[in-house]
Amino acid sequence: MNRVAPEGEIRFVKNGSGGLIKRIKQNGKWVVISNPKPREEWLGGMQKYAHLKPNQCIICGEIKPEEEFPKLTYRSKKDPDKIYRRKECKSCRKVKSQKYINDNHERLGERRRELYEINIESIQKRRDENRDEINEKARISHHKRKNILIEMLGGKCVDCGTTEKLQFDHINPLEKSFNIKCVLSERTFKELKKCELRCANCHLEKTKNDYLSGVLYSGITKNRLDRG
Ligand SMILES: [Zn+2]
Ligand SMILES: [Zn+2]
Repeated sequence: MNRVAPEGEIRFVKNGSGGLIKRIKQNGKWVVISNPKPREEWLGGMQKYAHLKPNQCIICGEIKPEEEFPKLTYRSKKDPDKIYRRKECKSCRKVKSQKYINDNHERLGERRRELYEINIESIQKRRDENRDEINEKARISHHKRKNILIEMLGGKCVDCGTTEKLQFDHINPLEKSFNIKCVLSERTFKELKKCELRCANCHLEKTKNDYLSGVLYSGITKNRLDRG
């Protein structure tokens, strides 16, 4: 049931390389309106990758297994039989996107705040509806981050060797800038170098000893004197 296009109708046709050609019906014939790029030019996009071997990353140049290249979902949706993949491997892409986030930190933050202001009602509604799920996710992610930090410090209590109820203890209480919160940031990693792992019991014991031997006490008074 092909409808015969009336005179003057405009249609878009795929040109075979993902682009569109605009055509208009004139005197019973389809005439191209926007001049498509000359053949040499639209081959240029592919020639950019001509030097690459199959499964070679365009950034690091390494040849990796196919799964190491992220899928292009929007192209795979158009053509579900074929899996399209990026020309850059997952690790290179991670570095690239992290760099983008760092470079555009302020702009992205501003945009996020803007969107929050605009959508505040629906965001709060969704939060109220999924409170349990959100809390559970936050709890799991907190544990993941804490485990990463714990692994960085050896994973067990330095005094008794247990792996339960571990806490971050500052080796020298005087050098403490802040309590370790489970945030994976440069600031935390720097502070973490001043710490060792202790279980709750040993931590309490050490703090008590520090206090009795005067280290902690002198620290507190020293800080107070510094502040004036
Ligand atoms: Zn790579
Ligand atoms: Zn212990």
